[in-house]
Amino acid sequence: MRLSSAVLVLLALVRGGAAAPQELARVETPQHLGFIFSPGTCEQGPEFCALTHPRGWAPDEIALVRSALDQIAANALGRQIIQRARQNGFHTLRRFEHAAEPNERGGYDATPMIVAKTHTDDERSIRTIDLTDRFFERVSVRDHFSGEPGYLLTTEILAHELVHALDLGQRYSGTDEFRKVSRLGLTADLQREADEVNVARMRLNAAGEYDASWQASRSFGVLRLRRLPSVHALDGYREALAELIAHLVLDPNARRRTEPRVLRYFDTVVFEAPSRR
Ligand SMILES: [Zn+2]
Repeated sequence: MRLSSAVLVLLALVRGGAAAPQELARVETPQHLGFIFSPGTCEQGPEFCALTHPRGWAPDEIALVRSALDQIAANALGRQIIQRARQNGFHTLRRFEHAAEPNERGGYDATPMIVAKTHTDDERSIRTIDLTDRFFERVSVRDHFSGEPGYLLTTEILAHELVHALDLGQRYSGTDEFRKVSRLGLTADLQREADEVNVARMRLNAAGEYDASWQASRSFGVLRLRRLPSVHALDGYREALAELIAHLVLDPNARRRTEPRVLRYFDTVVFEAPSRR
């Protein structure tokens, strides 16, 4: 049901809502591995849309995201993430220029640095992964810690969002067990260094230096901390789970860099075989 209504919304938007049903049937809706490429939508109201500027997908953007999904689906863990995100009702990828977040006044604030967002609005029966212009600006950035040629950053961002979709309601990242095994607490010295890395990342991202920003985040995780894939993983348990699992999918070095008790949690709790549940 969710899939067919999403297709109808998309078709109505593509054709300005005025096309006859026989015309609608001829419009091709891009889809890949069970995900519909939908333009951004305005169900959150005019203020939201004035900030976010919903837009359609350019052909090269569809090609990039299709190939990212293929990269993720190239191994068994990646296929599981895709399947589990879809089982949780995420079947749609939407395109906006920018993101916006609800504020205390009941309106929205622009959040121009947000790259991608797993969006859940159960009142309106909407579950989507939304991508902004910031995502596509990172198109040529590759990771330097995951072998040659290294994964594309856009692929990692999409895998990260798919893990959020799998982790709906923080069912895996919000457990006492994950809090215990992920050990996000830092000594005061390390925390100060992490804060400095985050300040540098913000400055680099604002200057469009996405490659340097990503390498700074990864260096801190892989070389300094050694047990988390990136500094971004320190932004709370939800982010840690997404970064750890996205790297297990895309980085051939990630398994040996991840602590055994974290791997055990993933193997026995997150990706437990359905028959053992
Ligand atoms: Zn995240």
